[in-house]
Amino acid sequence: MDFALTPEQEALRREIVALGSELAGERHIGELDRARWLACGRRKLQGLAVPEPYGGRGLDALSTAIALDALGQACEDGGLVFSVGAHLLACAIPIATFGSEAQKQRLLPGLCDGSRVGAHALTEPDAGSDTATLQTRAEPDGAQFRLFGTKRFVTNGPVADLAVVFASTTAAKGWLGGTTAFVVDTHAPGVSASPAHATLGLAGAAIGDLVLDGAIAEPLGSVGGGAAIFAHAMSWERICLFAAHVGAMQQLLERSLGQLRAARRPRSEAAPEPTHRLADRKAQLEAARLLAYQSAWRLSRGEQAGLDGSLTKLFVSEAWVAAAEDAWAVEKELAGVPSPAADAALCDALASRIYSGTSEIQRKLIARWLGL
Ligand SMILES: Cc1cc2nc3c(=O)[nH]c(=O)nc-3n(C[C@H](O)[C@H](O)[C@H](O)COP(=O)(O)OP(=O)(O)OC[C@H]3O[C@@H](n4cnc5c(N)ncnc54)[C@H](O)[C@@H]3O)c2cc1C
Repeated sequence: MDFALTPEQEALRREIVALGSELAGERHIGELDRARWLACGRRKLQGLAVPEPYGGRGLDALSTAIALDALGQACEDGGLVFSVGAHLLACAIPIATFGSEAQKQRLLPGLCDGSRVGAHALTEPDAGSDTATLQTRAEPDGAQFRLFGTKRFVTNGPVADLAVVFASTTAAKGWLGGTTAFVVDTHAPGVSASPAHATLGLAGAAIGDLVLDGAIAEPLGSVGGGAAIFAHAMSWERICLFAAHVGAMQQLLERSLGQLRAARRPRSEAAPEPTHRLADRKAQLEAARLLAYQSAWRLSRGEQAGLDGSLTKLFVSEAWVAAAEDAWAVEKELAGVPSPAADAALCDALASRIYSGTSEIQRKLIARWLGL
């Protein structure tokens, strides 16, 4: 077993860490910073795992996880990292995997270079964890469909050019067999986006509602095959987006270490707090990275990665929250008042317990994998 990065993976990691200075600066609630987004697009970060003929970088899941880990380390705008992740993992990859040749040629190049923004819309006002209660319906209209319903908490929704939207095609069949994934042009008649929600965390991401009132939509993959597309997207998101959060954990640890060294605290033997707390964080960081990379490795091999996705999502989100709480506590201890950056990092981390399926839902899925 060899845990070393290949020379190509090491070069990729360095390239993306070096991008950090281009991504620095203030972030504003509900605003995707276009200059930073396009800086990522010039490196095709929005198309890391999309095959090269369609404009992407053609990386496997493990190299994608390594790249997003580096982005999480380098970029202080957690909302931007989140937006890139949602766009790539839950919009571009489903299109690259399940789209027709015509859809891939038409849609992917603009997604990979960042000239178009993608979104993924499943959640509704009355459907989140429970996909059986999905209300958005699709009615056939010639070779296409028309969608009716409201999608909530859509990352990139207020700024999206296209979205992968899940809707019921045969209500009687329910989620499995009765749900279809569609590609929707969000500028077309019958689609309206709300302003961005005023979120506590992820300030640099625009998250809002998409209202569908007769919007023309083309099926992605087979009619009735939406559940499989959603599961595939969630495996990628729960592994590779959470690899980016491992990078954010490293960024937090490095900041705390720098602050502690600058304050010239006594050595750990003399003063267990907060040095031992940071030692725990280092152990959690290494464990989180190993789990994320192992899961990504399995995804790269085309193996079933549903359990790996849930394990990674649950472990990394909980470890990230603990890391952000500790970073906040270290600042409070050293400076008396934690900085706005420490507040923002904690809010970003807390949101990760909710999206891509809540921690409780991951525990339910893991228990099911264990036969419980
Ligand atoms: C920052 C952010 C970005 C998001 N981006 C997107 C996006 O791009 N696209 C998208 O479609 N959605 C997105 N979401 C929505 C997200 O996926 C849902 O919020 C999440 O799946 C939970 O659904 P819900 O909000 O309806 O809560 P509910 O499903 O109503 O859950 C409420 C609470 O009940 C618990 N619960 C629910 N069911 C069970 C159960 N069976 N057993 C035990 N506990 C249970 C949950 O864990 C939670 O604590 C985003 C959410 C956030 C916070």
